[in-house]
Amino acid sequence: MNIQSAVIKGTNILKNSYIKTAQLDTEILMAKVLSSNREYIVLNNLKDLSDNNLEYFKRLIKERAKRKPIAYLLNKKFFWDSEFYVNENTLIPRPDTEVLIEEILRLTKYKNKLNILDIGVGSGCILLTILKERKNFIGTGIDISKKSLDICKINAKNFDLNERTKFYKSDIDKFTLGKYDLIISNPPYIKSCDLKYLEREIVNYEPILALDGGLDGLSQVRKVISKSSELIKKNGKFILEIGFDQKNKVIKLLNKKGFYINNTLKDLANNDRCIVSTKI
Ligand code: GLN
Repeated sequence: MNIQSAVIKGTNILKNSYIKTAQLDTEILMAKVLSSNREYIVLNNLKDLSDNNLEYFKRLIKERAKRKPIAYLLNKKFFWDSEFYVNENTLIPRPDTEVLIEEILRLTKYKNKLNILDIGVGSGCILLTILKERKNFIGTGIDISKKSLDICKINAKNFDLNERTKFYKSDIDKFTLGKYDLIISNPPYIKSCDLKYLEREIVNYEPILALDGGLDGLSQVRKVISKSSELIKKNGKFILEIGFDQKNKVIKLLNKKGFYINNTLKDLANNDRCIVSTKI
């Protein structure tokens, strides 16, 4: 079978599974099979596929039809200005989280040698992006998931950041090491009862541990705030990603723990997504 016929078949299979980006996804998966890019596919669409490649392509299409996210099929996701290695043990970096990056870069433009802590570091997309942009900062990432930390370490190595990073497998409750100028966190903040309403791509494939915020969605947020108030230096900044309906509740929690609210930020869909505060 040639590339074009396989792409048409693959697209139809994904369309029948109601995947909106059927053709795009099919082309991306074909590019993966051929270790090339989408341009190559268009220019070489009459070339025959080897049996092995056809089998590999069918397998990927089948998984995508079951809604496995493209990022997990490719083992990579573009975030800010770089590609991050990902697999099913870590949350896929979200474009909404880039709002935090923009703000942190703005806040740290003239800063020197900051010591950063990322709580629930996941793939490392926030911490490592900041360290790439701010060459004299150092960072610590903690995560309760050992498998997720392994992914983060791969990314740190790929970006040549080993020397400026430390990673610890730890529950936030138990972590007591160091004092930080800047703390960042994108904790799990979805209410347990709302998990079932998430897209199938998310709920069936992404780690529940990275999403489930307990009964009211704030069980991890509370812990992160409380611990951050101990680990942060006076006047240190705390940048927290939140759920779209959590702003007021989280502001109260922050105030109670001695944080002054600087500002809140909206994501690309105009939902409240981030709170910036300072420890006083
Ligand atoms: N923003 C993510 C989502 O929509 C949730 C991330 C989180 O819980 N921290 O699925």
